[in-house]
Amino acid sequence: MNTPVITAQGHPDPPPPGQCWCCGSTDDPDRMVHLGNHPEVAVCRPCARWAAKEAWEIEDRDKSGLLVSMRDRFRRLRREVRDRGWHRHPVFGRPLRWLGNRLP
Ligand SMILES: [Zn+2]
Repeated sequence: MNTPVITAQGHPDPPPPGQCWCCGSTDDPDRMVHLGNHPEVAVCRPCARWAAKEAWEIEDRDKSGLLVSMRDRFRRLRREVRDRGWHRHPVFGRPLRWLGNRLP
């Protein structure tokens, strides 16, 4: 649900302040996530949530247990929804996106 839609890949110059380094969207710089050691690098909140989920998934690769397997099921379900485009459905899309933002 938080997969960046527009990419800024191949951008030769750093984006201006207020532009996401990941997807290229623009926002108030105070409402963006800045990297600790490189505050000039800012990402929008959806891209930051996506990166956090990716990091969580990488950490889960070395773990096992009931909670890890439940998170993996949610991740597979999210990918299935995204691949089928259900998150853009006019009726069910909004609740699916809401759920996707709150699940691992
Ligand atoms: Zn972004």
